[in-house]
Amino acid sequence: MKIVFSKDYTARLPGHVFRPDKFEAALALLIKEGAVRRADVLAPRPPSRADLLLAHSKAWVNKYLRFAFEPADAQKAELPITRGVARAHLMNVGGTILAGELALAGGIGINCGGGSHHAFMDRGEGFCLLNDIAVAIRKIMKTGRVRRAMVIDLDAHQGNGTAAIFKGDKKVFTFSMHGAETYPEEKEKSSLDIELKPGTGDAAYLAALRQELPRAMDKFRPDFAVYVAGADVYKRDLLGGFKLTMGGVKKRDAFVFAECRRRGVPVTLTLSGGYAKKFTDTVRIHANTIRAALFC
Ligand SMILES: [Zn+2]
Repeated sequence: MKIVFSKDYTARLPGHVFRPDKFEAALALLIKEGAVRRADVLAPRPPSRADLLLAHSKAWVNKYLRFAFEPADAQKAELPITRGVARAHLMNVGGTILAGELALAGGIGINCGGGSHHAFMDRGEGFCLLNDIAVAIRKIMKTGRVRRAMVIDLDAHQGNGTAAIFKGDKKVFTFSMHGAETYPEEKEKSSLDIELKPGTGDAAYLAALRQELPRAMDKFRPDFAVYVAGADVYKRDLLGGFKLTMGGVKKRDAFVFAECRRRGVPVTLTLSGGYAKKFTDTVRIHANTIRAALFC
């Protein structure tokens, strides 16, 4: 199976809690362990201007492609927007598009990156600049091969940008399970928001997931899904607020892939957040999620 990754994902962001090199490190770990062959790594192409316009405003796309950011843009995104960072986020969009195409062809597509769910139509927020999930879904739906898409967002934080972009779009269902009291303070309205208390551990988390996800999938009947598999639900994460063990996160991932497979729904994996105190923990969780996708 192919894995989508670009060296451009690894922007330099010294001292920042978000370490873009976590994606490259997860891939390196999988290659070292023999789960992935170097020959199976597929580099994406950057999205076109027209692609970006499927989910973003003209003003934001123009600003982005001309690299004409203002200080307020970086402030909102809580991210220094260097050329390397802008390139990384652009390539992540290309990566999720490519992974989506792989999912349609073979049931599962893996982007070893992506999941920028806090990016809105007209701005970046929360370490996200472009919403790769929304652009990929819209681009793939435009081809007519997908009629009803579902975003399964299990990052610890609400997929607020994705929810806002797809608001009123009946063909896209946004499912977000996240901390009631974690970032973003002002939440958007997803098609379904499952809010969990801070400190939620494996048992309560998995019980909520097992109760809500199958029901939502049976009701909406998607023919395509994007899984936003944030590693920040882990108990030693600095920003997530949950208390899941690594084993609990593995069960979460296995459940999502099994539910998609059972219904024949092609699923695109994006890795999204992950800010564990120990960098290697985040890397291990991302690698575990990719393993779950590879061997489900
Ligand atoms: Zn997050």
